[in-house]
Amino acid sequence: FFLALEGGDGSGKSTQAEALAEWIRAKGHEVVLTREPGATPVGKRLRSILLDVSSAGLSHRAEALLYAADRAEHVDTVVRPALERGAIVISDRYIDSSVAYQGAGRDLSPTEVARISRWATDGLVPNLTVLLDVAPETARERFTEAPDRLESEPAEFHARVRSGFLTLAAGDPGRYLVVDGGQEPEAVTAVVRHRLDTVLP
Ligand code: C5P
Repeated sequence: FFLALEGGDGSGKSTQAEALAEWIRAKGHEVVLTREPGATPVGKRLRSILLDVSSAGLSHRAEALLYAADRAEHVDTVVRPALERGAIVISDRYIDSSVAYQGAGRDLSPTEVARISRWATDGLVPNLTVLLDVAPETARERFTEAPDRLESEPAEFHARVRSGFLTLAAGDPGRYLVVDGGQEPEAVTAVVRHRLDTVLP
């Protein structure tokens, strides 16, 4: 079972990923908790290129391809092997982040960005994608460290990213769960647990 957590910066994905992993492990399943970008050795190098403020001005197509390269390596070496041995995989970000950030956020076609990721992953789609939806102003209040290159983008960029995510979720309601990420973390976890209870093996 493959669960993806999506949402803007500061939407609480990492907190939820950890809480859900703990809950699923307690049910006796093997859980692989992973993330994009940067879950593999090569991915870590790609992550530092992508997020360092010194990459300001990186071409948008190059950015899209570097995220796709990170994802290809992640799926090949971490996600697919784990799914094949029956583990439950929770990924903090996946394809939708590329469609929302490099597609809706930048000036690239969301359809083309999605196509690159489909090729990169050889068509691996999550069983469930949880979208933590939160207003960019609320999210920003949660930043504790200096903003990275993407977090430093203007508010309009983050607003486009947010609506990019919501458009994706609206297009496939059976595979998405949209949760108000502005709630207390425990309340968010409870909503997701409720849904997982109906679909987990
Ligand atoms: O979620 P995390 O903070 O690890 O993501 C790292 C950064 O990469 C974030 O600033 C996020 O906005 C950005 N990102 C992106 N495009 C993606 C995935 C992440 O711009 N496809």
